[in-house]
Amino acid sequence: MTTPARRRAGRRAESVAMSERIIENYLIDMDGVLVHEEHPIAGADAFIAGVIAAGLGFLVLTNNSIYTARDLSARLSRSGLEIPPERIWTSALATALFLHTQRPGGSAYVVGEAGLTTALHDIGYVLSDSSPDYVVLGETRTYSFEAITRAVRLVRDGARFIATNPDPTGPSVEGLLPATGAVAAMITKATGVTPYFVGKPNPLMMRSALNTLSAHSETTVVIGDRMDTDVVAGLEAGMDTVLVLSGITTHADIERFPYRPSAVVDSIARVPVGRDVHTIDGALTGATRRPAPTAPADDTAPRHTTQS
Ligand SMILES: [Mg+2]
Repeated sequence: MTTPARRRAGRRAESVAMSERIIENYLIDMDGVLVHEEHPIAGADAFIAGVIAAGLGFLVLTNNSIYTARDLSARLSRSGLEIPPERIWTSALATALFLHTQRPGGSAYVVGEAGLTTALHDIGYVLSDSSPDYVVLGETRTYSFEAITRAVRLVRDGARFIATNPDPTGPSVEGLLPATGAVAAMITKATGVTPYFVGKPNPLMMRSALNTLSAHSETTVVIGDRMDTDVVAGLEAGMDTVLVLSGITTHADIERFPYRPSAVVDSIARVPVGRDVHTIDGALTGATRRPAPTAPADDTAPRHTTQS
């Protein structure tokens, strides 16, 4: 006989049974975790400062491909958060790295903004509208019919279709905006070709962030506010995940998904900084360091590097 109380108790036991891992790196979603639009979320600055002081690694993640890491660093600074550009990982950077590993020195026709064009230039890509290897679609607020027409014709002619992120809409102060996924659907309708989406929930976004940090999934935690992007992508990339309730997801939403985060906390202010992490009642606890010599065998794997 399962009573509601018993079901709650069952959930409790599962939460306590969560893995205990040595945490050396954090992948931190930006919107809804560190900031709301322009406004910082309470405790975000202290958390970042704590991670830096502890000598742990981190990257701030965003699916938004409009801005360069330098732009985003400046925007976060205006919100009171000091995040160096090299600590920011966008879907545009992940897309550029993906294309570089797939087809180094290739060419692309880009519908997007500086965040995407700069990332592709920096990685050695040529931007061209003449028989490019790829059509790459990113977030932009200045779509033109001409650019979409060009993209459609190039895809029809055989260019491979890539999009930075699948989000159908994005937020703005005035209300929601159509985003990359919506424009991708228009090109798909006209061509019959669906793009390969690089950003979350594709775990590729998480894997490339891990590689950039020279981090291992078993010692890295994802902190995010969305079940259908941050949590599922972190899970599929082999990481523990922390869902914060300071963004889009409420406690009631969580049980509707076929997967669950490792822990749920009100906000990033409740995430302890440290090497040991385990969950009690679905909340994170623990911030003490373990002696390094007893580290598991995986820590000696070639890809693992100690943080500086
Ligand atoms: Mg978010």
